[in-house]
Amino acid sequence: MRSKIVAGNWKMNKNLEETEILLNELAAKLPDTQAEVMVAPTFVNLTGAVRALESSVIEVIAQNMHFAESGAYTGEISADMLLNIDIDTVILGHSERRAYFGETDEILAKKVATALNKDMRVMFCFGEELNDRKSENHFKVVESQLKNALFSLDGSAWKNIILAYEPVWAIGTGETASPEQAQEMHAFIRKTITEAYDANIADNVSILYGGSVKPANAQDIFGKPDVDGGLIGGASLVADDFVAIISAF
Ligand code: PEP
Repeated sequence: MRSKIVAGNWKMNKNLEETEILLNELAAKLPDTQAEVMVAPTFVNLTGAVRALESSVIEVIAQNMHFAESGAYTGEISADMLLNIDIDTVILGHSERRAYFGETDEILAKKVATALNKDMRVMFCFGEELNDRKSENHFKVVESQLKNALFSLDGSAWKNIILAYEPVWAIGTGETASPEQAQEMHAFIRKTITEAYDANIADNVSILYGGSVKPANAQDIFGKPDVDGGLIGGASLVADDFVAIISAF
C-alpha cells in the first residue's frame, strides 16, 4: 500500500533559531493524520532538527546529497554522513538543483543508485518546464526523466522510491497545476511505470504533487485518486499553513 506523504522543502531558508522555532511550532500543532510528515531544513541545521524532533513523528529529510562515497568533493555531503545523523530519506532531482547546479539525468541516476545502495529512501523530483507544456511535450519530458534516472533500477528498489511530480512552471510562482492536470499526469506516470515494470510497482509507489500547494488548494489536489500527497516549498515555512495542508488529508 502506498503511503500518504506531506513533505516541506525549506530550501535555503531559516537560520538555527528560526529552524528551532518552526520545528517546535510544527511539533506542537501537528494534527492527527495518516500522512507521513517530513521536513527538509538546510544541511547545517539537520543535526539540530533531528534532535528537536526526537519525540515527534515528523521525519527530518535531506534536500540533496552527492553520489560519491567520500573524498575530494568540496562542499558536498555523502549518504553516510546523512545516515550517521539518522537521516535516511533524501530529496533528489529538485528542479532548482537541475536548473542552477547542472544536475543532469545521468548525475541523478548515480545519486539515486548510491542512496538506494545505502538503503535510503529517495524522494525523486521531476517535471516539465512551461515550454514543454505549451508545446504539448510534457508527457514525453516526464517519461524521459523517469526513464533516464530510474528505469534501470531493479523492481525491488522501488519500495524505497517516492516520486514528486513538480511542473517547473508551478514552483514558487503561485501558479498551480489544476487538480485535473495533476491527476492526468500522475495517472500517466503510473501507466508509464506499469509498462516499464508492472502494475503492482506502479500502484504501490507514492506520487506527490509539488508546485504552489497552499491551504486553499491542498484539499482539491490531494482529493485526486493518483495524488498521494505533496512536496511543499513556500507554504512549509509557515507553521499554520503547513499544518493546514497536512490537515487537508
Ligand atoms: C518546491 O520547491 O518543491 C515547491 C513545490 O515549491 P512551492 O511550493 O513554493 O511552489
